[in-house]
Amino acid sequence: MNIKGFTTKILHLDRQKTIEHGSVHKPVHNSVAYAYQTAEELAAVFQGKEKGYSYGRQNNPTTTALEEKITLMEQGLETVCFATGMAAISAAMFSLLRSGDHLIASQYLFGNTNSLFNTLTQFGIQVSFVDGTDVSAVEEAVLPNTRAVFVETIANPCTQIADLAGIGKFCEERELLYIVDNTMTSPLLFLPKDVKAGLVINSLTKCIAGHANVLGGAVTETGLFDWSRFPNILNNYKKGDYRRWGLLQIRKKGLRDTGATLAPDSASRIALGAETLELRMPRACTNAKALATFFDEHPAIEKVHYPGLEAHPQHDRGRDLFADFGSLLSIDLVDGYDCFAFLNRLQCCVLSSHLGDNRTLCIPVAHTIFYEMGAERRTSMGISDNTVRISVGIEDQQDLIADFSNSL
Ligand SMILES: *Cc1c(COP(=O)(O)O)cnc(C)c1O
Repeated sequence: MNIKGFTTKILHLDRQKTIEHGSVHKPVHNSVAYAYQTAEELAAVFQGKEKGYSYGRQNNPTTTALEEKITLMEQGLETVCFATGMAAISAAMFSLLRSGDHLIASQYLFGNTNSLFNTLTQFGIQVSFVDGTDVSAVEEAVLPNTRAVFVETIANPCTQIADLAGIGKFCEERELLYIVDNTMTSPLLFLPKDVKAGLVINSLTKCIAGHANVLGGAVTETGLFDWSRFPNILNNYKKGDYRRWGLLQIRKKGLRDTGATLAPDSASRIALGAETLELRMPRACTNAKALATFFDEHPAIEKVHYPGLEAHPQHDRGRDLFADFGSLLSIDLVDGYDCFAFLNRLQCCVLSSHLGDNRTLCIPVAHTIFYEMGAERRTSMGISDNTVRISVGIEDQQDLIADFSNSL
């Protein structure tokens, strides 16, 4: 089949493989154990000499089918799925970094990733948080033991856009592993491979699954990083194509050690969500743009953080890199305005910490998801006590505007 479209490819990938009973969906395989006819076959699968399944924590046919779809979406080499996005990041970090290594991360990070990177410091890994919107901050932070640079595409909640291309070029020159968390843009809006990322992270829980009914995460190898120059690959995983060593180690060590396996039921549900990503995401982006414009003109709003607005500091970068500006925005209410009262008056939008859902979700971030990190770190991320994050869904635009208009 010569198919090129994003959605066509996702919809028909399962059927291009062996069709199990003609099923149009990859069936959910619940077996944890896999049996072989001969001891030789069993040994060959364990040693990676033959493709096959060994034990449900390590791999599963339903999950493999999802991994192939994520690889296709990211135009990468291979993907490993995990139970959550955080599990994917944790497994990548714990399997690739060692005590004495140095990691450079953007200071504009998802709160739990920020927490994880602080945990890494307790294991002897040095972490520098720098202004990821400017490659020069990364350049200045580099040390002889720097192993990797980690950034997100559009940061949450204040929508800073990392200097994705600049950092990619720099990492390539310095042979540093470049890890890009593509959750906020999704492979529909942006391919980190285009800015030379070596590994791509996706929280599948967000817009890829899209319906707030399943957790999952993924690490994709783009094939651009030369793992033969990476000092932390164990001899066991220096096998075959050196462009795949890193992911092999993440699959073998990261998945095994964390045990954070994606459940086959979850893989099936995520694959179903992914079928309509290309229908849902543009609608959510259009709604976000309309809301951003509405808030921008409203006297009760001090500031709107949305890359689609021309006043956004990285608006041009977003326009050049992304197919659209995403479905997340934040607003700072004017001083003295009661942000809890504003939220309590909303009737259609949901008060919730999630994002990338079909429904529009609102949360006062300083009091909730970014509460634990403290005021100082919040200020460095551009978060005020009156910042409300809005993950815009696919509702009808007039209902959203009416809800916020009424509430303000
Ligand atoms: C939600 C999120 C994660 C973590 O994903 P979970 O599936 O919730 O564990 C990681 N990175 C970003 C940018 C996210 O938004």
